[in-house]
Amino acid sequence: MLLRARVVLPMVQPAIADGVVEITGRRLARISRWREFSTSEKRDVIDLGDIVLMPGLVNAHCHLDYSDMAGMLPAPKTFSDWIKGILALKSHWNYADYARSWLNGARMLVRHGVTTVADIEAVPELLPEVWDATPLRVFSFLEMTGVKSQRPAEAILQEAFQILESLAHRRNRGGFSPHAPYSTTAALLQLSAACARARGRWVTTHVAESLEEFEMFMDRRGAMFDWLKSQRDVTDCGGISPIQHLERQGVLGDNFLAVHVNYLAPGDAELLARRGASVTHCPRSHAYFGHQPFPRAALAAAGVNLCLGTDSLASVNKQQKQLPELNLFSEMQQFVSTMPEVSAAEILAMATVHGARALGLAGSVGELSAGAEADLIALPFGGMLKDAAESVVQHRGEVAAVMIEGEWVVQPKL
Ligand SMILES: [Zn+2]
Repeated sequence: MLLRARVVLPMVQPAIADGVVEITGRRLARISRWREFSTSEKRDVIDLGDIVLMPGLVNAHCHLDYSDMAGMLPAPKTFSDWIKGILALKSHWNYADYARSWLNGARMLVRHGVTTVADIEAVPELLPEVWDATPLRVFSFLEMTGVKSQRPAEAILQEAFQILESLAHRRNRGGFSPHAPYSTTAALLQLSAACARARGRWVTTHVAESLEEFEMFMDRRGAMFDWLKSQRDVTDCGGISPIQHLERQGVLGDNFLAVHVNYLAPGDAELLARRGASVTHCPRSHAYFGHQPFPRAALAAAGVNLCLGTDSLASVNKQQKQLPELNLFSEMQQFVSTMPEVSAAEILAMATVHGARALGLAGSVGELSAGAEADLIALPFGGMLKDAAESVVQHRGEVAAVMIEGEWVVQPKL
């Protein structure tokens, strides 16, 4: 099958005017100009017309579990208050609530052009069922905490490990998500990192998200330290940044995706880069909590692979009284509003190739290249080639078409 479009944005080579993407089965075979295909090759053509055709977006951090919590938690005074708020909400939810919420979130992602998601899974019992109910490519990271439950780290890891080993799916994968430095023990971080390394698994953790977390580890003070000091052994706090804490437990590596990373101590950015770790920034969640500016320039200068994520809808503000949706284009637009110096091409890379690299999926998703999965999206575009990336970043509403593994999951209107 050949898909012809006004502009093809492969992400790993320059944009192509009047481009064609050739698909064989579930993979891409060739990406080229229309005029470079011979007449005899021009069979089975779908001419999409005034469209930008590009790889499906990679959402590098999400919590599909909480999609139906959109608008339920007004922006809190402190980060710890928000954690308490979501824990209270969760205590009223049952399996069916989570399953519905997860699938609603997955549908939102697909209609807004995400084809791969790095998702945190707090209710792993959902997985075989919800994985089969969506065409989305899902990388599910099993959430582990253990501070409140006081369960031994070995037991927590063993349970997650067994679930991961039992999950088999051609398209989807599983990894570990020790929740955050403050909500886990040092032992759990160490065990997760060691097990992931031995088994070729990926790890993701929220880290240095709030000033409270940074103060807890650096200075043994603040709202989070005061809240947790009676629940958690805090001898690991004091004189160490949250990033350094993860380094000490052996977590940082090229199989590690650090989420948020808003508060850095000197040397943290270089340390992340040296270890080959990736970082996901979630612009709307960042704005909701009112964190200090994301240290993009320091991380980029150090050479850290930077990705974009939506986070959960439990931490996104309403827009004009409308409930927010999971939408990576909205995240890009929020990003542009706070960091206008970053080019549209760089932002699109964060939402595609960088996310793929972070998940060990480079060459397979997040790009249009021979041999990659046929995961692509189409967006209306009638302008000039040079304006295509900018137009994609500013896209509003649903996308015009979505293909995953060579199958249309949102049909193009021709
Ligand atoms: Zn999160």
